[in-house]
This record gives sequence, structure tokens and C-alpha cells, in this order.
Amino acid sequence: MYVFNDYRLGVGVGEDGLADVTALVGSGVPKLDRMTELITLWDDVAGEVRRAANREADYALCDVMIRPPQPRPRTIVAAPVNYLRHQAEMGGEAGIYPGYEVQTIESYAGFIKASSSVVGPDGAIELRMTDRRVDHEAEVGVVIGRPASRVPRETALEYIFGYVPLLDITLRGPEDRSFRKSFDTFTPIGPAIVTADEVPDATKIAFWLSVNGEKRQQSTTEHLIFDIAQLIELYSGAMTLQPGDLIATGTPEGVGPIVPGDRIDLWIDNVGHLSIPVRAG
Ligand code: MN
Repeated sequence: MYVFNDYRLGVGVGEDGLADVTALVGSGVPKLDRMTELITLWDDVAGEVRRAANREADYALCDVMIRPPQPRPRTIVAAPVNYLRHQAEMGGEAGIYPGYEVQTIESYAGFIKASSSVVGPDGAIELRMTDRRVDHEAEVGVVIGRPASRVPRETALEYIFGYVPLLDITLRGPEDRSFRKSFDTFTPIGPAIVTADEVPDATKIAFWLSVNGEKRQQSTTEHLIFDIAQLIELYSGAMTLQPGDLIATGTPEGVGPIVPGDRIDLWIDNVGHLSIPVRAG
């Protein structure tokens, strides 16, 4: 599912087309909330969306402005240090935080990113503190499909609407995570949300990231410490997750600095390819 042009809703048609399904949500819905509304109404509109996907395209993808596919999630909750080899590169003598004993998600649990940090393929990662190190973190983004409160891991995957390529851009340093990761444009997502039925196995999602064409990160969700179902159990045990909320599931080893002029590419198997430039803010 896409958001495009003046925040209209679209569904992919074939490889490179788009059908406009904005009319499936009420005309009074603020345009930034249309995707949240579509996900909320999904059981009633899914058939209509599928029919639209099999009609003739209204647009060629290359002719529209692709916006972030969820421009205004109510909450973005994120998993810290959820891959063991990423833990290893963070702490220790040669780590990003030298000498610091980095724990894993088992002790940190989670943090919140400001929803205002979302940006799409139409934008750029903007660095405001160019004298400070800022890193890329490639992550599988989960989009919540229905209200989730105290959901056990056994049924957790039923609460997923879909998946989206997500970058958890991070200022390194002593400030709290929620500050360092919440700058405007520090949560690039897109180009589209792919519905959960198109992803064969949530425990085996492969993804990789390159900077200026050079591969820097590659892993699969098999290597997560807390898998996606456990994350939903953990977070829904604390807060009610709402349709359209995002979970950043954590980044594997290979994080590194980005600077103005770079281009970041993130591919997720069966989900999509996000490409976004970096510039000074
Ligand atoms: Mn992260």
C-alpha cells in the first residue's frame, strides 16, 4: 500500500503501476491519517483494494511522488540491541561506546521514537549536528493492524497489518535514545507497506543495506533475540498498540556513520527497496 502525491492512498498494480483507492476512506479524514483509517477499516475494504490491484493502473509509479506509506503513526516503538552481533559491535574496547558494557533487549526492553521523525522516499535524512556521528540502522518495520493489548506471542502475528523497510537513524552520544533517534527525518520508511499475507515467514525475513552502493548490513529476522511475535507480546503488555503503529524490530551488525551526500539503500525480501539521500539539515 502506497501514499502518494497529495497523500492519496494507492495499491500497487503489477510491477510499476498504481491504483488510487483514496475513496475507500471518508473524505473528512485528515490526509495524513488516511493510511491509519484504511488499516482500521481493513476487514471491510480489503476486497475492494484487491479488486483495484487487478484493474488497470491509474498511474505509473515513476510518475507520482511517493510519500511515507504511514505518514502519521500514533506510536513508534523500537527494539534496542536485538541482534547479538550488533551488541558485540556496540560495547567492548573497540566498540561504538568503548569500554561500556552494552546489554541487550532483555534488559532495555524498548523505547519510543517521535512519530514526527517519519520521512519517505520523497524526502532526505537531514543531519542537524554535522560534527556528531550519526549511524544508519537497517530494520524490518512492522505495521500493526488491529488494537493489541496484552497479546501473547502465540497469536501475536495476527495483529500485524504488514511490513515496511525502516531505517532507525541514530545520533551517537550520551543523550537518551528517545532524543537521539527522534530528530525530524530519522525514521525513513517506504516505499510501500506490504501486507502480511505477502510475507511467507516472519521469522525468516532477509534484508540488507548499502551506503553509496557498498553493502554494510545483511541479516535475517532469524537472528533476532526477541522475534517479532515476542516483541508484540512485550510491547502490547505495556501499551495498547493501535492500527497503523510501527515497531522498529532492531538492527543487526554493520551499523556505521552517514554523512551529507551519502545515499542509503535498504532492501527487504518480499517487502521492498527504500532509497534515500543524506544531506545537511
Ligand atoms: Mn534501532
